[in-house]
Amino acid sequence: MRLSVVVPCHNEEDVVTLLYRSLLVEVAPVVPDLELVFVDDGSTDSTLEVLKKLAADDDRVRYVSFSRNFGKEAAMLAGLRTATGDGVVIMDADLQHPPRLILAMLEVFEDGVDQVVARRTRAGDPVLRTVLSKLYYRLMNRMVDVPLGDGQGDFRLLSRRAVDALLAMPEANRFSKGLFGWIGYEHVIIDYENVARAGGASTWSMGRLLNYGLDGVMSFNSKPLRASIWIGLLVVLASFLYLLWLIANALAFGIDVPGYITTVAVVTTLSGIQLVFLGVIGEYIGRIYMEAKRRPHYVVSTDNLGPGRGT
Ligand code: UDP
Ligand code: MG
Repeated sequence: MRLSVVVPCHNEEDVVTLLYRSLLVEVAPVVPDLELVFVDDGSTDSTLEVLKKLAADDDRVRYVSFSRNFGKEAAMLAGLRTATGDGVVIMDADLQHPPRLILAMLEVFEDGVDQVVARRTRAGDPVLRTVLSKLYYRLMNRMVDVPLGDGQGDFRLLSRRAVDALLAMPEANRFSKGLFGWIGYEHVIIDYENVARAGGASTWSMGRLLNYGLDGVMSFNSKPLRASIWIGLLVVLASFLYLLWLIANALAFGIDVPGYITTVAVVTTLSGIQLVFLGVIGEYIGRIYMEAKRRPHYVVSTDNLGPGRGT
């Protein structure tokens, strides 16, 4: 069996070699036919030079380098397109995904499972982030039609047909967590202890995570649009009842003129709701716009894939 390991790298000069060595030590002895696909996602440090050096010394190493930073999703896509293995592992460069776990994944994989998913514990995470994540997954699983698991990231082993299914999805806006669920196939989960980064720094700020969360909701269904219909109807019903009450009041006790606070409250609340839903609609239109452009997901500047292999 041929195994490919896909590693998206953005400014990982400190750790790429560490990861490479540890893959050689842990995985290579068990997997004779190994391919390592590194995707340099527009690093501004010497990651590309490091990759070139690795590739020069070891022909199992293949790399693709982007012309700028296109994001991890694009990097993973490029890696999956490049990988030729019967099984493909996706893992981070920072050694937060222990290479040794690949052996356990392979054992499960040999039973014919299409997705072997590593699930990390949340030990050592900031408390606020843990709480928010938990809440997020609870909410998400209610809203989204595909299952999303807490702690189940991109670290996983996919079969060839699972990779092909992922590659068959042409969307520009890629939310991998959802795509992995969407393609289906049997998932087996392997738990592992959370590990701290081996070096460098995470590029995920809280704001970016929140935006990522919103992406998740938006890219998998149109329920926010549906929700706006229901909330709109509720508001209409409430205002109708209020109107009836006002009329009854006026009939019973005469016209009641003062009502400044009520007016301001109604105007601000309603315009708030309208702005939010305008935003929701706008977000979907923006997505349609991006998809309609049919731009490539990334631009490659160099690779060592040989003529005709770059995408
Ligand atoms: N990464 C990438 N492009 C980006 C950001 C990150 O390819 O724009 C890679 C990064 O090099 C690493 C993986 O994605 O291999 C996960 O990134 P990071 O460790 O920053 O995220 P975290 O582990 O905090 O979720
Ligand atoms: Mg990391």
